[in-house]
Amino acid sequence: QQQLWVKLKDEPTRTKDKIQVELSGNIGTPRDVGSVLENGGEGIGLYRTEFLFMGQAEMPTEDMQFEAYKSVLEMMEDKPVIVRTLDIGGDKEVDYLDLPKEINPFLGFRAIRFCLANEAMFRTQLRALLRSSIHGNLKIMFPMVATLEEFRQAKQLLLEEKENLQKEEIDVADNIEVGIMVEIPSTAILANQFAKEVDFFSIGTNDLIQYTMAADRMNEHVSYLYQPYHPAILNLVHQVIQAAHREGKWVGMCGEMAGDPVAIPILLGLGLDEFSMSASSILPARSQISTLSKQEMEELARTVLKMGTAEEVKKLVKEKTPRSF
Ligand code: PEP
Ligand code: MG
Repeated sequence: QQQLWVKLKDEPTRTKDKIQVELSGNIGTPRDVGSVLENGGEGIGLYRTEFLFMGQAEMPTEDMQFEAYKSVLEMMEDKPVIVRTLDIGGDKEVDYLDLPKEINPFLGFRAIRFCLANEAMFRTQLRALLRSSIHGNLKIMFPMVATLEEFRQAKQLLLEEKENLQKEEIDVADNIEVGIMVEIPSTAILANQFAKEVDFFSIGTNDLIQYTMAADRMNEHVSYLYQPYHPAILNLVHQVIQAAHREGKWVGMCGEMAGDPVAIPILLGLGLDEFSMSASSILPARSQISTLSKQEMEELARTVLKMGTAEEVKKLVKEKTPRSF
């Protein structure tokens, strides 16, 4: 098996019926890029920039951020790199940021909410990103977007910083895609409208599951409700992919679910374009996908969308894709 995986390292990711999808890696720091490349990653689907802010005593400067983003882009050459703007607050504490103590941190002041309220800090990150854009294939993604206004406001700040840099005669790439994480149910439900304005979606199932099931992803007493294969989740994912494709936009997934061998056949059938996962899952996923027919998975997906429980879904996937297990 290990040998088969090694053989697949430099191959594109294709189904048995030769439909191509993209397998990317999730990273937390530039040091993680090496293992994504060694494992045959076709891009970075999620660069969690909060680690840059968490690992030290004070806020990273624009230049420090620029160096980090640039180094990831250069190591990835022309492969796509999706950098997520700061997703911090609530449970992720940072001493030098004055974050309030909250009763419900997962429903609180965090991510894009915190960034839009701390504009100077957010603009610094956007400038660092824009400056890095000429060093590779950068895409920018905003986390925890719940409303269209949040997206429009964030994009407006990005455009303003781009203009500012151009006035200073600093080069910025002009084809940077700007997308959002779909990890809050309101955004999944309104995907039709979002799809007209964004360049891409990346579905964040780690949070989408907890918010849809109202089950804290850290609370063991309700972990039985944290069900990736719940038909409610699968129907939301379906809706998001359909909405994007109707507008000619692509959809990725960067939650843990994207690398899960039970979920992969369903996601393939639902038409997901990009799967982003931890480096060690990439080659097993590529190998699994090569055994699956997209056409058959479309039929499987249609069936699971009509099911009532996660257990039924899991049982059917295992029955229909025995070589995956
Ligand atoms: C997610 O919510 O699925 C996600 C990828 O983001 P994080 O795990 O960083 O919240
Ligand atoms: Mg998240």
